[in-house]
Amino acid sequence: MRVQDLFGQTLRDAPSDAQIPSHKLLVRGAFIRQVAAGVFAWLPLGFRVLKRIEQIVREEMDRAGAVELLMPVLQPGDLWQRSGRWETYGPVLYRLKDRSDRDFCLPPTQEEMIIMLASTEMTSYRDLPKIPYHIQWKFRDEPRSRGGLLRGREFYMKDAYSFDADEAGLIGSYEKMVGAYKASFERCGLTAVQIEASPGEIGGTVNHEFTQPCAAGEDRFVACENGDPTANTEVAEGRPALAYDFGEASASPERVHTPGRVTVADVAGMLGAEPRQLVKTMLYKAGKEIVAVVIPGDREVNEYKLRKTLGPVELLKDAEFASSGIAKGFSGPVDLGLRIVADVLLQGARNLITGANEADYHLTGVVVGRDFTPDEFADLILVADGDLCARCGGKLSIERGIEVGHIFQLTGEDYIQRLNPVYTAEDGTQKPLYMGCYGLGVSRAVAAIVETHHDDRGIAWPRSVAPYDIALVVLAKDSDNVVDALEGQLEAAGLSLLVDDRAGVSAGVKFADADLIGCPLQLVLGKTYAAWGMLEAKVRATGEKFEVDASADAIAAALQRCP
Ligand code: ATP
Ligand code: MG
Repeated sequence: MRVQDLFGQTLRDAPSDAQIPSHKLLVRGAFIRQVAAGVFAWLPLGFRVLKRIEQIVREEMDRAGAVELLMPVLQPGDLWQRSGRWETYGPVLYRLKDRSDRDFCLPPTQEEMIIMLASTEMTSYRDLPKIPYHIQWKFRDEPRSRGGLLRGREFYMKDAYSFDADEAGLIGSYEKMVGAYKASFERCGLTAVQIEASPGEIGGTVNHEFTQPCAAGEDRFVACENGDPTANTEVAEGRPALAYDFGEASASPERVHTPGRVTVADVAGMLGAEPRQLVKTMLYKAGKEIVAVVIPGDREVNEYKLRKTLGPVELLKDAEFASSGIAKGFSGPVDLGLRIVADVLLQGARNLITGANEADYHLTGVVVGRDFTPDEFADLILVADGDLCARCGGKLSIERGIEVGHIFQLTGEDYIQRLNPVYTAEDGTQKPLYMGCYGLGVSRAVAAIVETHHDDRGIAWPRSVAPYDIALVVLAKDSDNVVDALEGQLEAAGLSLLVDDRAGVSAGVKFADADLIGCPLQLVLGKTYAAWGMLEAKVRATGEKFEVDASADAIAAALQRCP
């Protein structure tokens, strides 16, 4: 392939809305073009990378015993109305009408469709187990589609669904998928870790995310210094190194004047206390009820855990504070008159500082169990850096990452039950199918790979997913015959070549483009070739330079030096 025959122009500057390296470099390198927020066209270079990742995933799914099919993008609304997710998916689901005013949608995921197909194609115990999968565009009207390919509103996903007769079968299928995911990510040059996670819209209990550790990632996960299984911060458990006990308190709480001090830091500063000695009393609406959520002052509420305790919740709005007569910024659990749910860390805590439920006043010397008694204790907080692992006591750290895959064992979620996936057992009765579902973000993986394989000058693709194996920069004049011969030999050896022999383009621009596009091996046909018949070679990822014979064997060997 000649650079001038590609479709796409490299850009010197990144678009102004691009914030993370993968978004900038993929646009600059002419891999993708943004068409609307979260919607991209795949230019030839990007398309080749996407297809290579897709093929790796396909091979690993097939190796694990899964079987590929293709389900449609245009889906009848009544299917989604039957599962109930037409409503519960909310504004994320793209809905449309056909000319006869019938409802359709663009699927964010495909449980509905696969269960519908399973009901005719896979009816007996003899058909089990089965793991159908497909690689298809998904659509989600994401509230914040930024970060380029990381969060598209149209994105490419491999999704698989396992069907088994019993739980042991489901666990077996799940383990096969774990193996396929690990192999896929490793082959793509990713080091994704398997972590415990929250199930989100999909439901289920046992579920894992595969997360690529990376500074630009939107996800936070907790890692243990001893290598214990890690978890998404939403579900991670850990405990702080220090107890929330601040010694003997006064005989009863003392009211102190704290004018205008509403933040933990301000109050702690004024009273000469540590932030952790304060408690935060946050008011949430849970249904019609207002509930006080009480946590240590140096901690943040984990809304996922809170929802597990209280169901759907919403922070009280300013206007609601006004009408309830509670002084915003000064609420506290003592004599509050509301249901109180406190974090377990506050069990038996002494000598705390709380709001006094009166503007500009706090209470000191508050003792849990003496001055207020929570209706319930629960684990409500986000694990913080330096906490101790719930399993081994090792130090935990908070890492950032990109969720590239998410797999679930389903356990009769409401929407699944409404679709009622069943099979006919050996005894002739209808039994429920045990289902798992397995998503892998193929287009997101493109971005995750760039996030982990780039430098200031551009992308450094791992060999396994590069758009072309080799970039050949042609500087010598009249070298068409040499280039053609080389291209023929390399193609015969199964290697792909991107030739930059553009006329009227400076050597500097060609080198910059080669670095930006990031083929693993760069070759230069220039001075050394004219003088003694050798090509100059550079490993894009490491910068290692050497000379190589202009033969397919020598070049294939040089490519082996590339990661
Ligand atoms: P996120 O938490 O990042 O929004 P999710 O948990 O909603 O993702 P899943 O329903 O688990 O996503 O989808 C399976 C996989 O599809 C994800 O692990 C991710 O790799 C990919 N994916 C999900 N949403 C997007 C998106 N908007 N753009 C690109 N890839 C996505
Ligand atoms: Mg997920």
